[in-house]
Amino acid sequence: MIGANTALSSEEREYFERTVETLENEVFVDRLGEDHFRDLDDNEESREDWEEYVKRMGSYDFAGITVPEAHNGAGETYVQTVLAEQAVGYCGTIVHACQTSLTQHVGRTMYEHGNDHVKESYLEPMLDGELIVSQAYTEPSSGTDLAHLDTTAEKEGDAWVVNGQKRFIDFARYGDFYFLPARTSGSDGDREGVSLLVVDGDADGIEILEDQSDWHGFRGTGAAWMEFDDVRVPEANLVGEEGTAWSYITDELNLEHLTVARYCLGASQKALEIAANYTDNRIVNERAISDYQSVNHQVAEMATKLDAAYLLNTRAARMMDEGGLSTGRMESAMAKWYGNDLAHEIADTCIQLLGGIGTTTSYPIERIQRDVRAGRFLGGASGVMKSVVQHDTYEVLDDDEFDGEYVGNEVEGVPWRKADARPPSASPDD
Ligand SMILES: Cc1cc2nc3c(=O)[nH]c(=O)nc-3n(C[C@H](O)[C@H](O)[C@H](O)COP(=O)(O)OP(=O)(O)OC[C@H]3O[C@@H](n4cnc5c(N)ncnc54)[C@H](O)[C@@H]3O)c2cc1C
Repeated sequence: MIGANTALSSEEREYFERTVETLENEVFVDRLGEDHFRDLDDNEESREDWEEYVKRMGSYDFAGITVPEAHNGAGETYVQTVLAEQAVGYCGTIVHACQTSLTQHVGRTMYEHGNDHVKESYLEPMLDGELIVSQAYTEPSSGTDLAHLDTTAEKEGDAWVVNGQKRFIDFARYGDFYFLPARTSGSDGDREGVSLLVVDGDADGIEILEDQSDWHGFRGTGAAWMEFDDVRVPEANLVGEEGTAWSYITDELNLEHLTVARYCLGASQKALEIAANYTDNRIVNERAISDYQSVNHQVAEMATKLDAAYLLNTRAARMMDEGGLSTGRMESAMAKWYGNDLAHEIADTCIQLLGGIGTTTSYPIERIQRDVRAGRFLGGASGVMKSVVQHDTYEVLDDDEFDGEYVGNEVEGVPWRKADARPPSASPDD
């Protein structure tokens, strides 16, 4: 926040400050420092880097923040979860925040619906920082529209046999396990009949078809297009009830909307700080460029919108703390589209304020701008979020008693003002 953060309690503000301090002094240091950020962007990361990262985050209780301590989580709140994600986006990179975000929403889903085997063999070691998680949802024919997934899982004896392809999968190369939806019954597009499985990263039949890490931003995760060819998954690796995972997925996405927006906003705040310092010191025509109103008003607008986005996000997280993971879908959708569109707008505006140097790697802004771009469709496209918001907005605003006074029927007795009549000039007989 740029202004006072009255939406947080003093304990929450302290939690955020402590988190930033720990990340800066204990996590993003030595082999995970600035050079490592560059390695990620150059796709020169290593498995050891990611192992070290998840180990450090697990040891400081930043993985699975809402999962009870008995399962190696932190036993804390959704508000703390989004604050931690903001801090990782700010102190580290988007891809670090993404890996940690997976421990939050995948971890929460495993905790709420997983059996003892799933909890003991995957959830607890993941939250301890021993396992890297990969979320394998997107397919060639179903991205935004997850219900049209083609991947199937058929029961054979005591195993599920998985067949299908998944693409754009972060941590495809490093995942110790994949959190994977597959159709176990029903037809294409049905929401019923989708099940969630935990698939071991080293299971037979998993193949990388194409490396996909050399994309616009968000680099260094070993992302790939993958094939699952008769992959046998133990029966016990089913998460929750067979065929009912649609509700688990939509609940899980409700939290992912908040974490993705929040870590992108954290990264954009870093860009804004750099731009504020730069413009206050860059002399053009014998004046700091921050003296120009067209510059300083842009800083003011970014600061105001950033605070608005944080407040929307905190509100939705607090609703989840009060009502659970499925609470506040409209508020979460508002926070997602506004936060992610804004993070990109801020990063882009900051490049504009720095001019040419902003497009070089002298400052991390150009990387931040590329990194936050995918947030506008990843985990829920802005257009889809707006569809959720408009639907609920009409429900909130529509009045059952409405008698038509806003649709041109204000003057009683004038025929063409009636809803079922046309004005004379538009009559087909004219
Ligand atoms: C950097 C990056 C990392 C990713 N990481 C992962 C990962 O780890 N795991 C994973 O499973 N996937 C991952 N993805 C995939 C990502 O989730 C999908 O790209 C996203 O869900 C969109 O799916 P799609 O690309 O198939 O686009 P499509 O579904 O084809 O949609 C294309 C565009 O159409 C518009 N659109 C589609 N449907 C609607 C609608 N109903 N209303 C309004 N607009 C709509 C949106 O603008 C959307 O961006 C990643 C992608 C990127 C780029």
